[in-house]
Amino acid sequence: MNLDDNVSEHFRLVISQKKAIKHLGISTIQDLLMHIPVRYEDVGGAVNIEQLHDGMGEGELVTIYAQIQDIEKRLMWKTKRYAVEGYLKDDTGSMKVRWFNQPYIADSLKYAKYVKVTGKVTGSGVSAYFANPTIEVMPGIPDSTDTQGVSNGLYPIYKSSHGITSRWFYYALRRVLEQADLRYLDDPLPDFIITKYNLPQLSTALIWAHMPESYEDSQSARKRFAFEEVFYLQLAAAIARAERSATDNYKILHRDDDLNGSLESFIESYPFTLTQSQERAVNSIVKDMSAGRPMARLLEGDVGSGKTAVASAVSFMVSYNKLQVAYMAPTEVLAKQLFESFITYFRDTNIQVGLLTGSGCKKYPSKTDPTKPTKISKAQLLTWMLDGTVSIVIGTHALIQKSVMFRDLALVIIDEQHRFGTKQRATLLENNLGNKTPHLLSMTATPIPRTLALTIYGDLDLTIIDEMPLGRKKVITKIVGTNKINEVYAHMRTEISSGRQVYVICPRIAPSDLSSKDGQAPSAQKLMMARLKSVEDEAANLKLVFPEFNISTLHGKLTPAEKDSVMQEFSENRSQILVATSVVEVGVNVPNATMILIEGSERFGLSQLHQLRGRVIRSNHQSYCYLATTNKVVAEPTRERLKAIVNAKNGFELAEMDLTLRGAGELRGDSQWGASDMAMEAIKNLKMVEAARAEAQAIIKTDHNLVNYTTLRDKLDKQGKVHLE
Ligand code: ADP
Ligand code: MG
Repeated sequence: MNLDDNVSEHFRLVISQKKAIKHLGISTIQDLLMHIPVRYEDVGGAVNIEQLHDGMGEGELVTIYAQIQDIEKRLMWKTKRYAVEGYLKDDTGSMKVRWFNQPYIADSLKYAKYVKVTGKVTGSGVSAYFANPTIEVMPGIPDSTDTQGVSNGLYPIYKSSHGITSRWFYYALRRVLEQADLRYLDDPLPDFIITKYNLPQLSTALIWAHMPESYEDSQSARKRFAFEEVFYLQLAAAIARAERSATDNYKILHRDDDLNGSLESFIESYPFTLTQSQERAVNSIVKDMSAGRPMARLLEGDVGSGKTAVASAVSFMVSYNKLQVAYMAPTEVLAKQLFESFITYFRDTNIQVGLLTGSGCKKYPSKTDPTKPTKISKAQLLTWMLDGTVSIVIGTHALIQKSVMFRDLALVIIDEQHRFGTKQRATLLENNLGNKTPHLLSMTATPIPRTLALTIYGDLDLTIIDEMPLGRKKVITKIVGTNKINEVYAHMRTEISSGRQVYVICPRIAPSDLSSKDGQAPSAQKLMMARLKSVEDEAANLKLVFPEFNISTLHGKLTPAEKDSVMQEFSENRSQILVATSVVEVGVNVPNATMILIEGSERFGLSQLHQLRGRVIRSNHQSYCYLATTNKVVAEPTRERLKAIVNAKNGFELAEMDLTLRGAGELRGDSQWGASDMAMEAIKNLKMVEAARAEAQAIIKTDHNLVNYTTLRDKLDKQGKVHLE
């Protein structure tokens, strides 16, 4: 068996298995070897069904690994309660398993094949059965003979895919390790790194990963592979950075060169003074844009920390240099709000600002009334962007269309940057007639722990605004059960009566339809969903509770024009309560809103809750956030999670908590940067990330094209992350 051989030369694969391994990116034996277990199941203490027939498990907790079959749910006529029954089978026998009063178990086992069962056994001999055990669906299970023998009880669990099981990988890899010669494997990690960080060599690490002798060995192997992955990401980032730095760029006048102090007076025209953090951010960005290479910077700042004011100051500096700015936001509502903010900031300048969205364009100032914007055609705006009349254009995705071109685009600002794909961000940088690379300022209100930022955005410099505008009060946050909702309503009434406004967030738009065509009872999942409040239901309910107030609704199904008029109504206090889905999460700014009630709060992620709460820290009034839960009693982990929101000092602290509380894999969300869960785990280790980063940068500094690191170079090439000449 050679490392370069195709897997199908040595394993008989049916079509679905072929598809599955292809899907997992595996074609050669070497690829198979690199399919590292996602975790290890400690099967040391497991027993088999024969042993249970012999009387083990009676009155004591035992664990078995088995296949599950013939799951059936029935209503017992006597007790009117549900019983779920099924059969467990391993290669030593089979036995019954029963659950009483837990009908949802049947649904959760619908597609299960392998399971791990822990519980007590009732009865003995062939009639012995498990009663109400805990059960976990497994991607594969060890043979019963393995449970006692295999690799000191560490049974590797592999990432499976539709068509191929973890169990298949387990057996395949044992064979590969027996038959393939790992001495021909080239280790892409340079020797000096292996030695310096005390990592196992590639071939050793592979054996330790697939057939660990001890837990420590398996973890050493993981550490190596995690380091490797982070190291590749850092190399790719270092290369991207070096390439970008080498391109021609727009040199923006430095603040110190700005002899007229025009930036100074621009900032002085703000209705407030910048916080020190904002000052620092403006300075480092302006300085960076004058440094002779294209800037690539991430501006992180909690919701309400005033990133827009910073964006406007640096945009001013660019337009003052007779160059242009593109400012892209993820939603139309947000783009319009940014445009409105810019109009106030640029009031006393003669800089022209445009708005470009799918549903129309505007320009400020209008010819007839210099205090107001005016509607213009898209064609007109595009012309003015091309000839440089309009200096700053704020817009949505519409900005990245092919037809959109700037004369001299020197700065691209991306708001809520995680909402865009890498491609979209890159496209915007290209909409430029000028031959130079625009500076890039990415902004995010989703605080990211430092290690994560260094890894995901390794090619960006980081600026953090860690201070709120003066006088902001901490939002008072409380978790409330459904039984306390009337107290919340009473508080809402007093807030609104004193002139304030309230958001009510629901997890769904419309009530769910529980009727079914086939006469079957609705699924547990569906019933669960049905308990969650919907915008429509809740708005109707609130109209009864608060007949004296106006209530409006906002959700993703509305047309942009409808959303606009709802937001307009709310921002002018023509409605006092806005019932919405999480569409208000991003950037919506109504300073007079001081209370937010989040229904079904356990359904939202921590940082999403943080964003939602951010809607009410836009003013100097004391504000409140109520996290309502669907059940009276909330499970402990959920409560822990919600408590994190109550206690966290700021978004950064929350992000750190998020990283430890949740699986790192979940944090990755929809940002497509393609690291494995293993690397995500590793990211919790700041030292490792910093080491990988430092080594990568040192290598690229002296050997930009990895001429002296051919294996490494091939590896990166194969991953398609970088393209070296
Ligand atoms: P972000 O985009 O970071 O969430 P914004 O830029 O929308 O925050 O600012 C939030 C609110 O705070 C806006 O109403 C803005 O006018 C106001 N603001 C920004 N900076 C300051 C400051 N230094 N002092 C007082 N208010 C500020
Ligand atoms: Mg913002």
